[in-house]
Amino acid sequence: MEQVAFYDTKPYDKIWFGRLARERGMEMRWLENRLNKDTAVLASGCRAVCAFVNDDLGRGTVTALRKNGVEAAALRCAGYNNVDVAAAEKEGLSVFRVPAYSPGSVAEHAAAIMLSLARKTHKAYVRTREHNFSLNGLTGFELRGKTAGVIGTGKVGRLFCEICFGFGMKVIAYDPEPVWGRGIEYVRFDELCRRADVISLHCPLTPQTYHLINRATFHIMKDGVCIINTSRGALIDSDALLEAIKSGKVGSAGLDVYEEEGDVFYEDVSSKVMRDDTLNILISQPNVLVTSHQAFLTDEALKAIAETTLENLERFFSGKNVESGMTVTAGIL
Ligand code: NAD
Repeated sequence: MEQVAFYDTKPYDKIWFGRLARERGMEMRWLENRLNKDTAVLASGCRAVCAFVNDDLGRGTVTALRKNGVEAAALRCAGYNNVDVAAAEKEGLSVFRVPAYSPGSVAEHAAAIMLSLARKTHKAYVRTREHNFSLNGLTGFELRGKTAGVIGTGKVGRLFCEICFGFGMKVIAYDPEPVWGRGIEYVRFDELCRRADVISLHCPLTPQTYHLINRATFHIMKDGVCIINTSRGALIDSDALLEAIKSGKVGSAGLDVYEEEGDVFYEDVSSKVMRDDTLNILISQPNVLVTSHQAFLTDEALKAIAETTLENLERFFSGKNVESGMTVTAGIL
């Protein structure tokens, strides 16, 4: 039976992976550790590892995995900015990912954040639990008639556009590879920043998109703009975001991802001192809603992720070609 070292295991991972791996004759070595150059040794004896978004697949880890006899890394996610693709190619570590799984899960989560911020339901929920039924400070805004600016119209971005159309919003988008003919008006990036009332990020993190949203781009945005990021944290310069929130330029922000999330997201750190001042201040603002990289977390997506990851591993173990769906230029960020 082929063994796979499964890093950063959470209880919800075991439900579908556990069931479907057994059916496919694979044994998972459940590890709670994150993958990095020091924990790579825990995969000794396994031909493959299974890794997630905050596992580190940089050069040091790739070398350590190969030293321990690991031949493949199966990412159970779409993004691969945590992988040094060039190092993996050089060292002969096969890496593959799940390019598509329930993109609706992510698009719907972005929409859930957008609605919460528009109507301040995240504040109302906390208030009424404490028997505070005052409406002061809860005035929202209608989405109907507003302009959504969608950055990246791939699988998730397109579904988010459809949801926005459903709310009666106008949709403008920026994507270097536009998909014409869906009622989406493609505009230049700076024009999107100037015109949108709500900006939602759905592009990958690459060296080109690192801090795509920064001081200069906040400067040209509408006053009171709503920013939503369900893609990757480092698309936004967090310090610039905090400044823009303090100045009122950004009216509300919904973050499912954060550039330094690797230290805290997915973990219960409620009894520890929060060392990240920027995150600390962001979370404490009334107009900021932070979720812990959970846009993917639906039963449908978890099943699809397990199926595709295990299919990739099965193909690899039986010597068949597995499409990596990655380009070397992505690098590690
Ligand atoms: P996709 O590959 O289908 O689409 C990405 C789109 O971004 C493409 O159309 C591409 O042309 C476009 N793009 C590339 N560079 C761009 C740029 N500089 N500006 C604007 N657009 C650009 O990917 P997807 O499945 O739609 O996923 C989008 C992103 O969502 C992923 O990159 C991933 O980081 C993120 N994601 C997050 C979660 C979560 O749980 N929060 C889950 C899955 C995916």
